[in-house]
Amino acid sequence: MRVAVVGGGIIGLAIARECVLRGHEVTVHDPSPGSGASHVAAGMLAPVGESYFGEPELTRLLVECARVWPAYAQGLGADVGYDPTGTLQIGLTGDDVREMARLWQHQRSLGFEVEKVVPSEVEPLVSARARGVLVRSDHQVDPRLVVGALLRTVRVTADPVGEADVTVIAAGCGSTAWGLPVRPVKGVLLRLRGAPGLKHVLRGVCDAREIYLVPRKNAETIVGATSEERADGEASAGAVRDLLRAATDLVPELAEHALVEVCVGHRPATPDNAPIVGELRPGLLVATGHYRHGVLAAPLTAMAIADLVDGREMPEVWKPFGPGRFL
Ligand SMILES: Cc1cc2nc3c(=O)[nH]c(=O)nc-3n(C[C@H](O)[C@H](O)[C@H](O)COP(=O)(O)OP(=O)(O)OC[C@H]3O[C@@H](n4cnc5c(N)ncnc54)[C@H](O)[C@@H]3O)c2cc1C
Repeated sequence: MRVAVVGGGIIGLAIARECVLRGHEVTVHDPSPGSGASHVAAGMLAPVGESYFGEPELTRLLVECARVWPAYAQGLGADVGYDPTGTLQIGLTGDDVREMARLWQHQRSLGFEVEKVVPSEVEPLVSARARGVLVRSDHQVDPRLVVGALLRTVRVTADPVGEADVTVIAAGCGSTAWGLPVRPVKGVLLRLRGAPGLKHVLRGVCDAREIYLVPRKNAETIVGATSEERADGEASAGAVRDLLRAATDLVPELAEHALVEVCVGHRPATPDNAPIVGELRPGLLVATGHYRHGVLAAPLTAMAIADLVDGREMPEVWKPFGPGRFL
């Protein structure tokens, strides 16, 4: 089949690669591939850290998404920074810990392994004030390396879609052009570079501010991220200050690192903050609205869309996330 994928972010590229692997003739249409949210994302693969109250179906989906990542990363044939070291969930002040404790209780109630630890014993650079848990099953990958690897496996053009048997809309925030209910949620994220020290991803609350630190093998530490219901592309000085303050309160040594990049990205979010994956009408499929989970969900999304292209049903776990719920 001739498959046209509109959008060359991590979602569109993963779909294109999966369809190529299944023998289809695929073209990705994007004037600026890899330039959207996927270029900014931290790359946490965190179904436990992202399991919030009242989202059981999304949590089940994210657990499945995480399950396929190790084999998927290996299959890409390049180092994409897949790192299974695990994640420390942390609160700094007493109030922060009380807030996080409620989340830990929720995570345990779902059957996740959430191990009480002394964070500064696991990660000596972390402030001795911090209290937390270790989640061994929440991992990370480097989205820029993933996008780079995917781009090497597919054909991309800036031309509009021509003749195709199946078209897949995977244009992130640009999917609104097809009437899909996607809104941009702005995120400011920083990259620091300095002597490597942290091994685990850190995420939690620090003086009432949500924060995560993602250490990369290339001596970078990602500091993220704001979550702002707006579409502009500027990073305010206040946002950068707040992120740096939380990061250095948690890991004082980061103050010695160089600030090498301030990034702004837009998460494609939907009215219920869950993805839209499925068939709009015969020959027109959609995979968008992945909000905070697009990196985590890219491989499984690609498999689900390729199943539809092959004329098969999507796996059960995807059933709640079809476009029909908004139409
Ligand atoms: C600060 C931040 C941190 C994040 N951290 C994580 C994380 O740790 N883990 C995680 O899983 N997710 C994370 N995310 C979310 C993740 O980045 C997104 O869910 C994911 O990148 C969405 O991928 P996408 O391919 O749908 O969209 P994008 O990456 O935005 O790509 C969309 C593509 O479509 C193209 N396009 C748009 N309109 C058109 C059009 N009309 N025609 C052709 N092409 C078009 C664009 O050029 C772009 O290349 C984060 C996001 C942000 C902003």
